[in-house]
Amino acid sequence: MIELTKRQFVRLAGLSIADRIFPRWLRAEPAPRSQNKVIIVTFGGGVRNSETFAPEGVRNIPHLLALKPEGYFYRSCVNSGVLSHFNSTASIVTGNWQRVDDFGFQQPASPTLFELYRKQRSASALDAWAIATNKSFATMGSSSDTGFGDRFGGNVVLPKQLLLEAVEGAIRKGSEGGVANRDLVLEHLENVLNEGYEGVGWTIFKAGRELDRKVRATLLRGLVDYIHGPEAPTSGDELTFFITREVMREFAPRLLLVNFWDMDVAHWGSYSLYLQAITKTDRLCGMLWDEVQENPRYRGKTTVLILPELGRDGDVNTANGFLNHRSGDTSCRNVWLLALGAGVPKGETERTVQHVDIATTAAELLGAKCDGAGRALKELSL
Ligand SMILES: [Zn+2]
Repeated sequence: MIELTKRQFVRLAGLSIADRIFPRWLRAEPAPRSQNKVIIVTFGGGVRNSETFAPEGVRNIPHLLALKPEGYFYRSCVNSGVLSHFNSTASIVTGNWQRVDDFGFQQPASPTLFELYRKQRSASALDAWAIATNKSFATMGSSSDTGFGDRFGGNVVLPKQLLLEAVEGAIRKGSEGGVANRDLVLEHLENVLNEGYEGVGWTIFKAGRELDRKVRATLLRGLVDYIHGPEAPTSGDELTFFITREVMREFAPRLLLVNFWDMDVAHWGSYSLYLQAITKTDRLCGMLWDEVQENPRYRGKTTVLILPELGRDGDVNTANGFLNHRSGDTSCRNVWLLALGAGVPKGETERTVQHVDIATTAAELLGAKCDGAGRALKELSL
């Protein structure tokens, strides 16, 4: 097996998806109107106020609770669109309510933030990334708008999906690491799979559709190394975090979408696993913020926007509302937004804002423009 450091792996991942103009990222960035970097973090999978920032929920999110006084908190951020995963996050990254196939078979219908930023700012392909636990997000990086599309898209990495493929490969080549190695891989695989509600069946969606075969194979081997390393992640979201951190350290992109999703385990009906996933995502958000503070390429010039992509059903008529997110009630639609970092004042508001406001705001912070349905959040505007 070829030995790869994590950094080498991430570099290969980026190179494989990018437009192969590697030296460009080594050059000094052209002076943009703004030096701001933007990281959008979604509590994907859906989480209710009642398990997060409601008085009875804050015990599940100690890190975010501690960060809240440092940032600007929007108590009411509303998802007025389709209450499904792909469409919810696609609405966040396009600034328009999306109604496309929710299993990732269609791209968002209007330009994504990745495309708007890259096209308007002539930004490198290595400057915009989406890293997602949700396996159906492979098409999140670019839209079907003919004026934009893949040539301006963001790199999309689905670390969990790649890990699973790596494991499949490791098992197929059982002789390579010996039986002991294979057992270890399976043990890790079991841990990762237990975090996702859909169980097996991951092979429907293929990540990294633009990877060529050779680089892809290398990348998969790198992921196998990950699960044997000292920081071996035990969940899809942890793997997403580690890949995100490596991308930040290697490429320092100005635009990053991070999708955590393990809390959607709630569909299985286990309230305790749902709460555990929330607590883990809270911890990962804290670690991501620590990286922003410690990384000189991010410190002091990065705005972090954290929000649930949607809520979950309320407990009005049943105690099991947390299972799904299809009722369209307040518990499903009304979530929150926490802004941290560069240019963010301290404070909070009851003023209702919307998911589609995120792209408009982020575009402005990046020196670009998004003519979507949203309005730039005035508290964060330049
Ligand atoms: Zn779900």
